Amino acid sequence: MSDTSPLCKKSRFIMSVKQLISEKEVLEVVGNLARRIGRDYQGKKPLLIGCLTGSFVFMADLVRRLTIPVECDFMKVSSYEDRMSAGEIKLLLDATLPVKDRHVIVIEDIVDTGQSLTFILERLRSKNPKSLESCVLLYKESPRITIPKNSILYLGSAVPDVFIVGYGIDYAQNHRELPYVGYVERE
Ligand code: 5GP
Ligand code: MG
Repeated sequence: MSDTSPLCKKSRFIMSVKQLISEKEVLEVVGNLARRIGRDYQGKKPLLIGCLTGSFVFMADLVRRLTIPVECDFMKVSSYEDRMSAGEIKLLLDATLPVKDRHVIVIEDIVDTGQSLTFILERLRSKNPKSLESCVLLYKESPRITIPKNSILYLGSAVPDVFIVGYGIDYAQNHRELPYVGYVERE
């Protein structure tokens, strides 16, 4: 793990970002996920539904590595900070394309408790897709997890229980532009 800029001053503490997964490594993981999806969905034109905002970089890289045609849509649920308590998840933006009888893959940046993903899957399942799977880039080794790892068909990398940033994922809207996956640490 290497120390990297930028530094972010937050109240009296200096927060620094440390690299966890390099740009090259993360793109390898995304490439492997794309290969598996391409094999499994040959001739099916799946509908990929990205969970905003954190998954926008992951989804953009994933679709460009797919060799099959897909359609794309997005959903947004209240994030970490917007939640009153664990479990109180609100739908902020719904998918607009029809889901009924489609092969749907939910694209999520990171799973911690799994509550956001469960909420999104339940909502989509109620619209009767032909099939419904999830593709998650990062899975936190967290004691708070509520969903089994093997329920996620396309799983990228496990990460430790730290606050992840970069590659589309933010800390108070910062660090989304970093090309690698890192974590914030208080100095
Ligand atoms: P869950 O519902 O699984 O607890 O959390 C899922 C959502 O919370 C993720 O889609 C992501 O938006 C956010 N999240 C979870 N862990 C982290 C993290 O380590 N860093 C950041 N920035 N967001 C996270
Ligand atoms: Mg997310």
